[in-house]
Amino acid sequence: MPTVTVVGSVNLDLVARCPQLPRPGETITAESFARFPGGKGANQALAAKRAGSDVSLIGAVGEDSDAEEALALLVEAGVDLSGVRRVDAPTGLALITVGESGENQIVVVPGANHLLATDMIDIGATDAVLCQLEIPMDAVVAAAERTQGLFCVNAAPATALPAEVLERADVLIVNETERDLLSDQLADTGALVVVTLGAAGAKAFRGGRVVAEVQPPPVDPVDTVGAGDAFCGALVTALAGGTTVAAALRYGCIAGALATTRQGAQPSLPTAAEIAEHI
Ligand code: ADP
Repeated sequence: MPTVTVVGSVNLDLVARCPQLPRPGETITAESFARFPGGKGANQALAAKRAGSDVSLIGAVGEDSDAEEALALLVEAGVDLSGVRRVDAPTGLALITVGESGENQIVVVPGANHLLATDMIDIGATDAVLCQLEIPMDAVVAAAERTQGLFCVNAAPATALPAEVLERADVLIVNETERDLLSDQLADTGALVVVTLGAAGAKAFRGGRVVAEVQPPPVDPVDTVGAGDAFCGALVTALAGGTTVAAALRYGCIAGALATTRQGAQPSLPTAAEIAEHI
């Protein structure tokens, strides 16, 4: 089993479904409300675990009951959480409003995630490290410097990457929006650049040239939340296991597509057995 260490955010998602999104100054009444574990770090840790990796998560949560709730599915799945520190700030939150037609507004309150400090980034022997950008950039730089194996960055939300990260990265994963925002940096890197293209699948580039291109299996999407995280966790699992770029892209695309067929982020993440049915 490949080993993957995820360095990233842990949030609790507070989701209100409303007839429409409120305008500035407007008060509206929700039709329903629910709380879900979330955060790109936690989601991708669970995605990698379900996809077949042995996973450790490094992150920061508060000394509050939200932390338990945010980590519940990771505990259940057997992700190693010994690198998740309790810090003096509330567990991160995402305040999500979803309108009738599926459009949304999201306010992220980073809380504890912003207190993830460089001295907490203790990376042992691992086949791959996977970071996202919902944590301080110093923490991502520390992870880059301390990684022996494959160093992968999902550049989301899109933020300019410092030279230490760009030069060390083996794999950079972006969606189309992030690719457009970071195009100058991506044009310059020696890393494998993987661009996810929603229903059109994903393409991998090296030095600006396409090295692999994959389409997802046909699915009936009900909710695309979690698709990007499913893709990242599965792609890195396959690469850490030593597969080719094309096979890893296929594995990631299947995981992303399957995640769109179920509601929510973490509950929708597919298992290795489910992904294997589509290979
Ligand atoms: P993000 O959610 O980060 O914007 P994408 O929308 O590009 O990322 O989706 C990530 C992956 O999930 C895609 O590469 C694809 O494999 C899969 N996916 C997303 N939307 C669909 C869809 N409508 N049909 C099939 N697969 C999808």
